[in-house]
Amino acid sequence: MGPELMERMRAQVARFGTEFQFATVTKVETGERPFRIHTDSGEIVQARTVIVATGSAPRMLGLPSERELTGKGVSTCATCDGFFYKGKPVVIVGGGDSAMEEAMYLAGLASKVTLVHRRDSFRASKIMQERVLANPKIEIKWDSAVVEILGIEKNDCGGVVIENLKTGARETISAPGIGLFVAIGHTPVTGFLDGAIETDEQGYIRVKDPTSETNVPGIFAAGDVMDPRYRQAITAAGSGCRAAIDAERFLQREGDGH
Ligand SMILES: Cc1cc2nc3c(=O)[nH]c(=O)nc-3n(C[C@H](O)[C@H](O)[C@H](O)COP(=O)(O)OP(=O)(O)OC[C@H]3O[C@@H](n4cnc5c(N)ncnc54)[C@H](O)[C@@H]3O)c2cc1C
Repeated sequence: MGPELMERMRAQVARFGTEFQFATVTKVETGERPFRIHTDSGEIVQARTVIVATGSAPRMLGLPSERELTGKGVSTCATCDGFFYKGKPVVIVGGGDSAMEEAMYLAGLASKVTLVHRRDSFRASKIMQERVLANPKIEIKWDSAVVEILGIEKNDCGGVVIENLKTGARETISAPGIGLFVAIGHTPVTGFLDGAIETDEQGYIRVKDPTSETNVPGIFAAGDVMDPRYRQAITAAGSGCRAAIDAERFLQREGDGH
């Protein structure tokens, strides 16, 4: 299980001499080396290299029940949780490319996909829209928002109430085993960097592909914080490996390595 895997990985890196410190980083001074990393406990850690791997947070609808039901019928990742809805109906919220991708993916698994979108047209690319609109398993609810998650049964979102934002009319979509997928984007956790490292317009750290190097020599990025595309555990772990190798080589080049 996941927690055991995490514990084993932790034990593995501890065996190789990793020290752990639990704190929230509030600021990174990148002007000169060693870098100065400020934490919420008031401490300043100095480091010759830094790997930023702070992940990204899925945007949620803001409904009281959704956090509680995440993992119990509410999900933010179709590739991760889609399998649990094989042969069952699902509702997806969103209108961009990622919502279209999730809708197409889930249409291959679920019995029916209802796509709820706030506006009367999608923001997604034309080709993705065409695929979704042509799929007979996908029904679109335009100008609509999910206003309530019923959450009746365990491991089941129970269904949702959607509201037409133009007419105010409400409709309940419910069925046994129904799932709700929230696909309204992710926010990379880069606010604490306060612009010290270059990001794209969405806030993802820019790396010099195919490396993990950022625009600041000695600072590397790995995982979901630099990856708007795949956002999976294995891709994050793989990019962590790349960042570790890049950091090691950087230290050797700079004469700080062993
Ligand atoms: C609901 C859900 C289900 C998923 N299921 C799967 C799945 O089945 N398979 C799969 O492959 N992937 C799955 N994923 C995706 C996977 O979880 C991510 O791709 C992966 O965890 C990214 O790893 P990461 O290390 O980049 O970031 P994270 O795992 O998000 O780790 C970032 C860490 O940084 C810490 N942090 C953030 N800011 C600071 C700060 N300022 N100071 C100190 N620490 C900080 C956070 O507390 C966190 O511990 C799922 C994601 C979600 C949301």
